[in-house]
Amino acid sequence: MPSNKIIGPVPVRPRPVIAIDGPAGAGKSTVARRLADRLGFLLVDTGALYRAVAFASERQGVAWQDAPNVEQVAEQIAPTLVLTRAADGSVRVALDGDDISEAIRTPRMATGASMVSAYVGVRLALLGIQRQAALQGGVVLEGRDIGTSVFPDAEVKFFLTAQDEVRARRRHEELLAKGTRVTLEETLADVRARDQRDRDRPVAPLRQASDAVLVDSSNRSIDAVVEEMAALVANVTR
Ligand code: C5P
Repeated sequence: MPSNKIIGPVPVRPRPVIAIDGPAGAGKSTVARRLADRLGFLLVDTGALYRAVAFASERQGVAWQDAPNVEQVAEQIAPTLVLTRAADGSVRVALDGDDISEAIRTPRMATGASMVSAYVGVRLALLGIQRQAALQGGVVLEGRDIGTSVFPDAEVKFFLTAQDEVRARRRHEELLAKGTRVTLEETLADVRARDQRDRDRPVAPLRQASDAVLVDSSNRSIDAVVEEMAALVANVTR
């Protein structure tokens, strides 16, 4: 008689999944990119997916407050979203073949993303892409809920944080470099408002997973942070 019992060990991913979560401006994108390049891993910037939903909603005339319609937009666009890396290493995002990488990296789309990411239907619509990308492992995913919701079984989890003022200063410098005119005070208020929304939402809130390693980047260079994280990955995956 056929048996449903699993005989032998449950298959494991050939390579690890690395989760990097944390609040806005903690340096996740830079660190995730550097770590992925160093390890020869794929990089998945999950914030870009939520930004794409905010962007597509606005383009279709759907208000970010309109949960049911935003959820529909998310379901509709999820299969057409493609994340790639450009020759310079930057993350590119295509929506139905259109490159929307620049359009989604504005303070306005950051606010939109933080609003639409609170809807359960949006999070569910984007879950498949994130899990699919990492089935075989060998991936660094950065976001807010990777270690707690998307990959609770990730082999390595980091929670990267920094003091509010430091995060706002970094984000402000990035925005100025791109020619976006905002003040440091506006950026600090924006970063705090987004963090609060991310922490307070009922679905997949921003939290440090109990088994995540806390890394504070406040008074340290990106190089030092990447070194520490790479050493830990080498230790865990040896
Ligand atoms: O990381 P980034 O600033 O691009 O994220 C934009 C917004 O998307 C965040 O403020 C958060 O509300 C949402 N997000 C999320 N879960 C993730 C990644 C991003 O809710 N895994």
